[in-house]
Amino acid sequence: MKFGGTSVADLDRIRNVAKRVKAEYDKGNEVAVVVSAMSGVTNQLVAYCQDAGELYDTREYDTIVSTGEQVTVGLLSIVLQGMGVNARSWLGWQLPFRTDNSHGNAQIKEINTSEIEERFKEGQVAVMAGFQGVSPNNRIATLGRGGSDTSAVALAAAMNADRCDIYTDVDGVYTTDPRITPKARKIDRITYEEMLELASVGAKVLQTRSVSMAMRYNTRLQVLSSFEDKPGTLVCGEDEVMEENIVTGIAYSRDEAKITLRGISDNPGIASSIFGAMGDAAINVDMIVQTLSEENRSTDMSFTVGRADLKRAVNALEAIRSKINCDAIESDATVAKVSVVGVGMRSHAGVAQRMFATLADKGINIQLISTSEIKVSVLIAEEYLELAVRSLHTAYGLDNEEAA
Ligand code: ADP
Ligand code: ASP
Ligand code: MG
Repeated sequence: MKFGGTSVADLDRIRNVAKRVKAEYDKGNEVAVVVSAMSGVTNQLVAYCQDAGELYDTREYDTIVSTGEQVTVGLLSIVLQGMGVNARSWLGWQLPFRTDNSHGNAQIKEINTSEIEERFKEGQVAVMAGFQGVSPNNRIATLGRGGSDTSAVALAAAMNADRCDIYTDVDGVYTTDPRITPKARKIDRITYEEMLELASVGAKVLQTRSVSMAMRYNTRLQVLSSFEDKPGTLVCGEDEVMEENIVTGIAYSRDEAKITLRGISDNPGIASSIFGAMGDAAINVDMIVQTLSEENRSTDMSFTVGRADLKRAVNALEAIRSKINCDAIESDATVAKVSVVGVGMRSHAGVAQRMFATLADKGINIQLISTSEIKVSVLIAEEYLELAVRSLHTAYGLDNEEAA
């Protein structure tokens, strides 16, 4: 059972979580619980780091931002004990939960569950801090924002759990973020593949890596409400999903910035220099478009990076400016990405065209486009984001008319 930030936002909510844990425990289940920090706490800790020094040491960042979870595991354990449940807290290093050295965005390498399994025999509930592990240098490492989902799935996979239930502030995965449109519809079952694509293009209800891990280990993953008793969404293999919609959902990301390089040389090796510089600076590049050049002389190139990386990306490009022969480096941090996802796209034509027509109808200009087998993404001005999501939701027939 994993409980996110809003589910443990204060002591009353932690008591509510404890009741749910006790209910599973009373059914005779062996239970491991993974919790996040209280909502807002991790953001505050990140802000402290940024305030302390612009180019902070990511090992110290991890030491700081992992502390929110230390508080909630302790509190939940005390509350459970008060209800007569034998429970204890575990921090990442205590299992241990081993990661690689990529501080701030570490990958899980190995989890030792033997202690927890021993304690299960004594009827003890394990209350595990999400988001954290220990690196090869014996330092605390965190798994990237939203990483408690990945902690939970990893623990479930390592223990061969019957289920991994992710409790959150919505009662399942919806056709789009229910905060953007009340017409969003709850999805009963979604394939790992579609959930992976939705998460990777911005649906933050599950961290992307948690979904790829569940897919790899065939973990039965459910998203449920921690406040209401109703069925949630099952994330499962394609064989368990009966109906196949052409479009499953619409996701968006505001964490986008666009860089345009004007008049760069149109020679072999230029793209390699540009994206080599991004790679050296550990900056992820997402959408890329290069315009056709005239008479093989010069060309323009646009691509997107995360907003937090924009400054560093531009600095890295300035450093190679003469090498790529660039007339101008332009940047824009007021863009957003909207994506339409569905496995049905493999077998149906016209999905992208409907997207373009819908946006055109609303007068929304498309700046960049990228596609995969089951996804079409466009970059637009951020001010039109909500309008775009709602219009596309309607255009693909996803609206829940009862909620309208
Ligand atoms: P937690 O703190 O429990 O991990 P998150 O805030 O990380 O919760 O994720 C839950 C939020 O994800 C919801 O409140 C909702 O606004 C957002 N969300 C985005 N896309 C979707 C979607 N397609 N379905 C459900 N929720 C979504
Ligand atoms: N507390 C961490 C965060 O806010 C991890 C999580 O909530 O999943 O990113
Ligand atoms: Mg989350």
